[in-house]
Amino acid sequence: MTLETEFERVSMPLENPFTISRGTQTDAENVIVRVTDEGGMTGVGGAAPSPHYGETAETVEAVLPDLLTAVEEIGDPHALHAIEAELSTVVTDNPAARCAVSIAVHDLAAKRLGVPLHRLWGLDPSAAPATSFTVGLDETERVREKAADAVEAGYSILKLKLGTDRDRELVEAVREAAPDARLRVDANEAWTAREAVRKSEWLAELDVEFVEQPVPAEDPEGLRFAYERSALPIAADESCVTLSDIPAIADRCDIANLKLMKTGGLLEARRMIAAARAHGLEVMCGCMIESNASIAAAAQLAPLLDYADLDGSLLLADDPYDGIPMLDGEIQLGAQAQAGTGARPKSVE
Ligand SMILES: [Mg+2]
Repeated sequence: MTLETEFERVSMPLENPFTISRGTQTDAENVIVRVTDEGGMTGVGGAAPSPHYGETAETVEAVLPDLLTAVEEIGDPHALHAIEAELSTVVTDNPAARCAVSIAVHDLAAKRLGVPLHRLWGLDPSAAPATSFTVGLDETERVREKAADAVEAGYSILKLKLGTDRDRELVEAVREAAPDARLRVDANEAWTAREAVRKSEWLAELDVEFVEQPVPAEDPEGLRFAYERSALPIAADESCVTLSDIPAIADRCDIANLKLMKTGGLLEARRMIAAARAHGLEVMCGCMIESNASIAAAAQLAPLLDYADLDGSLLLADDPYDGIPMLDGEIQLGAQAQAGTGARPKSVE
């Protein structure tokens, strides 16, 4: 079959500048991929490249022609395993670029079969956990306001970025503004192992649910130290990039946080979930700041997760794509009327 492919870079301003321990982001550069079959049916995917993992919109655009040529040569949008394997042969790195193509082909395959992707996988849409909403670093009063706004908007699970010299003040402010919210914190590698253990004590007192990536990924023994002594469960994000990381983190954390843009594809993400389960880990799926072109695909995995952190599109001022509604943080997969991932351009509505 003849498949046509194209890609397009989109620059999307954020609703608010987004700050974590490593820096501030004011807009998100994504690259949208489309794969169209002979009947004119189009699958869409998105790449949200992260400089932390060595990717930019430029590197995505540089490798997409080779990746899309591989898809055209295979020519069968239902050959998902063959396509994803070939993509990782053609380009060994660049997981966000590969992921955009994997998503677009999955979207097209499910559309051709007329079913939402989670139905193709046999998943129960009602099993999807609610997503958290992330509050980035800011002045303490601004963080307090943002937490109050998030609660007002209906979100019941907040994720607070930490990694400052006023971490306790920030958590206390959020707890005051959101006394009933489930609260998670993410240090993005900013702490030492001993600091993580110390902070876990008062974080537990403030009824925080778990701590994400307390120590640098380059310090696996520090992660183990924190995991063994922390008063709270530990989630690994920067320490959990690809499938082969799962055995290494199995005795160093409680929760594996995967992201599509780290895994390089939807099949690989499902393998990571299975591997994490086999190692007794709980599973979370996070995201970059992403358009619904890719977030809608991550939402399809939600029934397989214990924790969802899929607010990437919610942080954008304007997303060119609609996806799976997340009213009050509930990932409404059961209401998905569209076949595929559910991502669709807003202008066509
Ligand atoms: Mg994280």
